[in-house]
Amino acid sequence: MRPQADPILMTTMRLPFIAANWKMFKTVHEAVVYAKEFRGAVKDVDDVEIVLAPPFTALHAVAEAVRNTNVGVAGQNLHWEREGAFTGEISAAMLTEAGAEYVIIGHSERRTYFGETDDTVNRRTLAALTAGLTPIVCIGETLDERDAGQTLDVLDRQIKGGLDHLTATQAALLVIAYEPVWAIGTGRNASPEQAEDAHAHIRTRLRQWFGAEAAEQCHIIYGGSVKPGNIAELVVQLDVDGALVGGASLDLRAFAEIVSKSRRAKV
Ligand code: PEP
Repeated sequence: MRPQADPILMTTMRLPFIAANWKMFKTVHEAVVYAKEFRGAVKDVDDVEIVLAPPFTALHAVAEAVRNTNVGVAGQNLHWEREGAFTGEISAAMLTEAGAEYVIIGHSERRTYFGETDDTVNRRTLAALTAGLTPIVCIGETLDERDAGQTLDVLDRQIKGGLDHLTATQAALLVIAYEPVWAIGTGRNASPEQAEDAHAHIRTRLRQWFGAEAAEQCHIIYGGSVKPGNIAELVVQLDVDGALVGGASLDLRAFAEIVSKSRRAKV
C-alpha cells in the first residue's frame, strides 16, 4: 500500500517520492548490508515515499530486509508476458512474489542499449499495472533533441506512446520520471527551471489526455545527476514531486541525505 500525503499538512496531495536506481551495482551481500543500515537511517521519515531498486538477484533479499518498514522495493524492468520462452526476462508476477511493489520502465539505458521503444514501454506499463505494481516510467530527451528545440515534442511522443490505452485511474497511479538523457550519470543536472518547465508540460499533457484528477495525483519525478547538494532546489519546484537517483544512491549516507532534504519541501 503506497503512503498518502496528509491533506491537512501538505499543500499538495503528492508525497515526495525518492527512488534509488542501483542499476548493475551491488551483490546480494552488499545490497542487504546497505538496506539494513538504510532502513535505520530513514526510519523516522513518514512524509516521503522511499524506494530502492536493486538488481534482480538482490530483490528478494532487499525486500526481506526492509519488510514492514517505510522503504519499498522496485524491479528495474519487467516483461509484459505472464511467462514463456523469453530468456533473460522477468515477469510482473515474479517481481511481486520477490517483494517488489514498483518497477522502473523505459529507462534511457534500456532505450539506448537494449532496444526499448515507446511500444514496449507501453506493454510493460500495462502489464505492471495489471499485476498491481506501480510503474516508474522514464522519459526524456537527448542533448541533440534539446539543442534542436525538440524537447517537448519528444516528451509528448514518449508519453502518448508509452501510456497508450491506460485509463485515467491507471494514469493517476503512475510515477513518471523525467530524465533528460544528457543529465544521467554526467554530473550535469537540469536546472530547477528546466526541470519545472518539462514537468509542468508533462502535467498539462496528462490533464489533457487523462483528466485533472489523474494529472494531480500522478507523481512526476526528476532524474539526472541528483545529489544531496541539488535535491532541495529541485523538489521545491511546483511540479517536481521527487527524484530517481542513480550514482548518488549507491552511497547510503548520500541517499539518506537526499531523502531527508526532500522532506516537507512543499509545505
Ligand atoms: C538514473 O540512472 O536514473 C539516474 C538518474 O542516474 P544518475 O543519478 O547517476 O544521473
